[in-house]
Amino acid sequence: MPMRMGRTLRVVRTVALVAALSLLARVAGDAAPPASPIRTADLQSWLTYVSADELEGRALFSSGLGLAAGYLADHLREWGVQPAGDAGSYLQTVRILGVNATSRSSVTISVGGQSRTFTDGAGVAFPSFVGGKRSFTIDRVEFAGYGLDAPAIAERDYADRRMRGAAAIWLGSQGPKAATSAMRRQLAGRSRYATDQLGAAAAITAAGPRETAPAPAGRQEGPDFTTAQRLDAPIAPHVTAGRDLLDFLFSRAPVPYRELERRAEAREALAPFTLDGVTMRFEIDADYEVVRTQLGHNVVGIVRGADPRLADTYVAFGAHYDHVGYAEGEVTRDGGGTRRAGAPGRVTPGAEDDRIWNGADDDGSGTVALMALARAFAQGPRPHRSLLFVWHTGEERGLYGSRYFADHPTVRLDRVVAQLNVDMIGRNRDDDPAEADTVYLVGSDRISTELHAINREANAALARPLALDYEMNDPSDPEQLYTRSDHYSYAAKGIPIIFFTTGLHPDYHANTDEVSRIEFDKMSRIAQMIYETGRRLADLDHAPTRDNLGPRAY
Ligand SMILES: [Zn+2]
Repeated sequence: MPMRMGRTLRVVRTVALVAALSLLARVAGDAAPPASPIRTADLQSWLTYVSADELEGRALFSSGLGLAAGYLADHLREWGVQPAGDAGSYLQTVRILGVNATSRSSVTISVGGQSRTFTDGAGVAFPSFVGGKRSFTIDRVEFAGYGLDAPAIAERDYADRRMRGAAAIWLGSQGPKAATSAMRRQLAGRSRYATDQLGAAAAITAAGPRETAPAPAGRQEGPDFTTAQRLDAPIAPHVTAGRDLLDFLFSRAPVPYRELERRAEAREALAPFTLDGVTMRFEIDADYEVVRTQLGHNVVGIVRGADPRLADTYVAFGAHYDHVGYAEGEVTRDGGGTRRAGAPGRVTPGAEDDRIWNGADDDGSGTVALMALARAFAQGPRPHRSLLFVWHTGEERGLYGSRYFADHPTVRLDRVVAQLNVDMIGRNRDDDPAEADTVYLVGSDRISTELHAINREANAALARPLALDYEMNDPSDPEQLYTRSDHYSYAAKGIPIIFFTTGLHPDYHANTDEVSRIEFDKMSRIAQMIYETGRRLADLDHAPTRDNLGPRAY
């Protein structure tokens, strides 16, 4: 258009420009990420209380832990989070049982038309806790070599092996030659890996080299076992067998047992193979006598979803509010140095006078992050599904609170579409400043690839995305974190989980895990990422698909 324009035209043009600019401003206003519902100052003030000396290190069964439970309940009530514990309260009583067991369990093995039965204590040993009475037959028996999934040492004993419903047999207490002491946790967890993560119906290993029969477990002081789990729940047996049983089991196998035993002792290669024509019939039969009951509390709250079609389904959030407590013993200083008697964890040199393990990071950080999430959902936009918050007790003593909740849920567990677990998100791994943006995710892809993707998108949508690191999702990661916090109790029920942590550091389980060392800005960014992930899951029109493809991201 030529330049000779009249005044009216200029006025019109200016008005249009201003209108355009204000429209732009409004759009820009909308695009700017809304103010985060997670406020760093709140996290700091809550954690200062939760990790204060007056809470005595929040050990299970301590008054300090009781104070923490009351503090949580008071805030949930104030924010309008619904109680979801027992009888309309925020507290779920957790019963931790000391149990003596009388076993009549046995396994009958059939090989090439011949059968032999081995009873507990005579050629085979069952653990004291084998769950409820039941009998079942396994007709797929897999010899899994060393029973390791350790790509780092080129040991993939389960590659291309369909383990769900099969019996897994592994040998070699030390593992192959390439196995290092750093693999101590993985080596110790092989039976559990086979049953819990690969879905094997039973795991069998040798009692010990050259042992004809495992030594019967004499009755020791105190109960045979302590558990918060249902005594009648079906549990896949982990048994140890003597030479007699193993000779018979491998009597028609491509390689006889004695040769496998020799190779395992020599830490030579142990090629996996299927034992064709072999079946195992288990009679799980134990009587339990409860000889002690100890009580604790989970703290449980719900924010109801807005969509009536989806509000009876849940996105679950978890943390543990207990820690290891304090040292009852005194400090001794002598030629052997300075020691603190009765320390429930490590004593940081120079801090011997501090008798309280405050657990600011472990897991005070997760405890208050969950408080921020509960308030954000209770007071912010309400998603379609409901949100379930569980502050677990007794995690430090064996995942008691989460095991109990998973076996005695206060909502239907089959309505929980995913569980997001937070344990130690307040520091940099090894206190390395280069980790300022890094958070570790464990298990995000193991049960649901879709959950993994949703979390990645949620992070990418943040104003300041975090660096998501999957190093600890490696099945052969030395720390084996996948089995070491409360998400594991939900994963064991088939629920897709993500475990969020910033990793270990010099104050882990030390008396110097203090609030003064917490990276609050980082912690609130991680809480924001979890909020965003939870919101997306809660608005999803379907439950994340459970494809159970195991760990791939690492
Ligand atoms: Zn912890």
